[in-house]
Amino acid sequence: MQVAEKKIFIYPWGHERRFNAYSNYFRSLYGARVQKVSIDAGFTCPNRDGTKGIGGCTYCNNDAFNPSYCIPTKTVTQQIEEGIEFHKWRYSEAVSYLAYFQAYSNSYAPLDTLKKLFEEALSFPGVIGLIIGTRPDCIDDEKLEYFQELSKKYYLAVEYGIESCYNKTLKRINRGHSFEDAVLAVKQTAALGINTGAHFIFGLPGEPREEMLNQVDIISELPLKTVKFHQLQIIKGTMMEKEFLEKPEDFKLFSWEEYLDFFITFLERLNPAIVVERFTGEAPPRFLTGEGWGKKRTDQIVSLIEKRLEELDTRQGKKYQDKR
Ligand code: SF4
Repeated sequence: MQVAEKKIFIYPWGHERRFNAYSNYFRSLYGARVQKVSIDAGFTCPNRDGTKGIGGCTYCNNDAFNPSYCIPTKTVTQQIEEGIEFHKWRYSEAVSYLAYFQAYSNSYAPLDTLKKLFEEALSFPGVIGLIIGTRPDCIDDEKLEYFQELSKKYYLAVEYGIESCYNKTLKRINRGHSFEDAVLAVKQTAALGINTGAHFIFGLPGEPREEMLNQVDIISELPLKTVKFHQLQIIKGTMMEKEFLEKPEDFKLFSWEEYLDFFITFLERLNPAIVVERFTGEAPPRFLTGEGWGKKRTDQIVSLIEKRLEELDTRQGKKYQDKR
């Protein structure tokens, strides 16, 4: 009996996966897996220290997303060493690393301090670049010029927490900046040829599903290289947990099935040129209030999303309309 040959279709991003995947993007750049290693360099945030606000964004608890080896009392070098060790059992084939300055706002310090920390990371053997997670209001021309210089020699990305395209939501979650601030930062960064990323949360209070979905057309027009999406999770000890416990009817948390449907529809409208790094976030269950999605790991979630894309014979950007 002859087995029918499966046809392999190569999408605009150069491989057969049905979305523009982050891991493939790095393989295409470096020909091998590149592993991110998180660092908590002891930064704070203007939305916590009183410069912009006190108490921070209502959902914020950095501990819920920080890997265990990230402790700011350890040097950058120590954290990279331990991070590489931590990832080794799972990703033994990785030989190149990106130092991911993850916790709080990683450009919120004088330029000299940034230089010292970033250059320590870049001098570690195997580190080929930096990912700098920050807020849209924590950059200026001087810092961007420095990032531009670094990006001529290394991989460099600045990732902005944007979270929502709606100012009413940003106000409600106490972000302390507007969507216009975010657009300006993204445009200024991208204009210098720096890889620019953004992070968004789906399920924030006060945003109906339709409104959440319509953000895709706004995001698609931004000069973004990468995006990360998370479903809202209510983290213990946050202001949002208090709000949630007092008024649960204000929150429409996604079930896994709802999120899968929502995300596929979103992905179909997303600009195919934007690389998608994450679909979901998974804070450890001990940090969560309310129901989580059980014990689904990131790789299982990615497989389930890819399986659904296949079943529906659809892909990222299938319904994208280029308005640029
Ligand atoms: S900007 Fe980031 S670190 Fe600062 S309070 Fe908000 S989520 Fe937390």
